[in-house]
Amino acid sequence: MSVIEDLVQETEKCINCGFCESVCPTLPSKNYRAIYGARGRVFISKESLKEVKSHGRITLNIEDSIFSCLECYSCYYVCPAGVNPGRVSQMMRNVINRDPSRRKPVAEMIVSLIMKYGNPLGIREKMCSWAREIDFDDSSDTILYTGNMYQLMPYSSFLSKIEAKLNEKTIENMARLIKRKPGILKIIAIPDKIMMERMEKILLDIAFLLKSSGIKFRYLGKDEPYSGAFLYELGYLEEFIEYGKYIRDLFISKNVKNIITIDPHTHEAFKVLYPMYVDNFNFRVFYYLELVNIPLKKMDENLVYHQPCHFTMHEDFDIPSKFIGSIGNVILPERNGKSNFCCGGPAELLYPKLANSISMVRFKQLKEKNGNRIVTACPICFTNLSKDSTVFDIAELIYQNYSKKY
Ligand code: SF4
Ligand code: SF4
Repeated sequence: MSVIEDLVQETEKCINCGFCESVCPTLPSKNYRAIYGARGRVFISKESLKEVKSHGRITLNIEDSIFSCLECYSCYYVCPAGVNPGRVSQMMRNVINRDPSRRKPVAEMIVSLIMKYGNPLGIREKMCSWAREIDFDDSSDTILYTGNMYQLMPYSSFLSKIEAKLNEKTIENMARLIKRKPGILKIIAIPDKIMMERMEKILLDIAFLLKSSGIKFRYLGKDEPYSGAFLYELGYLEEFIEYGKYIRDLFISKNVKNIITIDPHTHEAFKVLYPMYVDNFNFRVFYYLELVNIPLKKMDENLVYHQPCHFTMHEDFDIPSKFIGSIGNVILPERNGKSNFCCGGPAELLYPKLANSISMVRFKQLKEKNGNRIVTACPICFTNLSKDSTVFDIAELIYQNYSKKY
């Protein structure tokens, strides 16, 4: 079935009940303008598909509505008709991108940098400094695959702070310029130093936990490319498939059999999406906590856990809760599991103000639980929710407990 046929079938199921609006995080943050909610996205997609069918192109102004969807899937789990407005938005991006004049310049810049350099900011060579003092097992066919994610956050958070101060036109012009002259980004992309130290320490903690569990693995270092997840999320399906083939061939050439992922976006790309879209993507994919096996000490601490949407709503995967429960009392916010509330992070590069507004709402929900600490299990969630010193990545929590640095 083609993307258009799939979309028509999905949007035709909508009975316009509006249940999905009650859970959509972008709607209140955009002053309840209907096109920024789940039902509005399904409705304008349906209308745009009629346009495509009748005269081959979309004339409605739908880009910001569709690209501001977080793809959190909260809407899907309340829809009585089985529509997934998050998936509709993701596929509609692909339809919008077919007209080059309607593409988002920032998305275009990111996609072109990934395709050219294997990194969303074109700075792949800066991603491996965290590992310089680790002894890897170079004979192992298992790799620890960071996907550059933790390392990218200090750069992307710096850039989104700049973006938040500029108007849309200036940002778009900058993105077009960087796409033409990518070297500029290498000069202006200055990472947040404190965040970089923290992210590198988290990566070291993850490697330490795996080694302490007796796992033998190596790391591709400066040869490690970004996973390609943004290509899929931004609706660049053809590029995603092409990039997936490049990753597959790279892994084969390096005799990789097993991949240890460390974040939900990469895990979903490697475990679910590439096997669906790329022939012979036959690697065994693990999330690192599936392999960590160390004694932990239960403490009397209330740990408020923010679940990553890509684990609980895209996949049915909740292994971090098990570890948090071995260390303290797991406290979940009202919006959890299949009714999770996104951290806002997926909007950060295209809509930094929206991302910040949603992350403030989520942070407040987490703080209201009055726990001792807030725990995340995704570098994007961690970056967006780190609004005070009580927020920790799960690797830090486990490392501190295991090494008794509690
Ligand atoms: S909940 Fe489902 S059926 Fe109701 S408006 Fe949303 S997408 Fe349509
Ligand atoms: S996926 Fe999330 S942001 Fe997108 S329409 Fe659904 S609830 Fe709203």
